[in-house]
Amino acid sequence: MPELPEVETTRRGLAPHLLDQRIRTAVVRNAALRQPIPRRLPKLVAGTTIRKLERRGKYLLIDCGRGTLIVHLGMSGRLWLVGAGSMPDKHDHFDLVLENESAVRLRDPRRFGLVLWQEGDPLRHPLLANIGPEPLSPEFSGSWLYEVTRNRSAAIKLVLMDSQVVAGVGNIYASEALFRARMNPKTPARRIGLERCGVLADKIRETLEAAIRAGGSTLRDYVGGDGRAGYFQDEHLVYGRGGEACGTCGSRVRELRQGQRATFYCPVCQRR
Ligand SMILES: [Zn+2]
Repeated sequence: MPELPEVETTRRGLAPHLLDQRIRTAVVRNAALRQPIPRRLPKLVAGTTIRKLERRGKYLLIDCGRGTLIVHLGMSGRLWLVGAGSMPDKHDHFDLVLENESAVRLRDPRRFGLVLWQEGDPLRHPLLANIGPEPLSPEFSGSWLYEVTRNRSAAIKLVLMDSQVVAGVGNIYASEALFRARMNPKTPARRIGLERCGVLADKIRETLEAAIRAGGSTLRDYVGGDGRAGYFQDEHLVYGRGGEACGTCGSRVRELRQGQRATFYCPVCQRR
């Protein structure tokens, strides 16, 4: 499932091809995503020019001047550049067609993604209004993490995946950051002191930055905005490595279920 590094890689890959380009139209082949793609979208975007391509959490924001396209990749989405005439696959539900004969294509086999339109400030859209700080911004720090976890008795791994605590961190990067911070994913969040919250915030940032440098993690469908696969999955220290030897201590990496998602951790390195 695409998390912050995958969405950021998509943004960086697409930005040079999209900025200042005029949109000819949008093609909606299947509007039935997590929320329906607005019927009027082709009319709304036609003739506009893309001014900015930004990201908030796992949302991509394509600023078209008179409004913003809000795109979410859901569980299995990818967004990349194709020639405007290239044949769609059965899961290619949406194209944003540019006047320069290229198009941005959304492929989303599981259809949990979103393509929405917002006039005015996109950050006030109900899906975005309550997202917590960006982990790569100065607003996200150990003291923030400490403050927001004081009354949270849930396991720290689950709390990190709450987008109100920090934007864009999902299953893979929560597991990886906790390993790098030598912290047990089951520890109740409110038991983690200020100093360790600082370590954890640093490791979250480090992990995400390394993943962005690697172009994200390609586990199944994901490719970046330029159509290339990421390779951070080769650098995963615990995620997807249940039963393998921990690279630090040699113990077996364990897998457990938390909130119906797989968590991977080393029982020796991540004792508390
Ligand atoms: Zn270990």
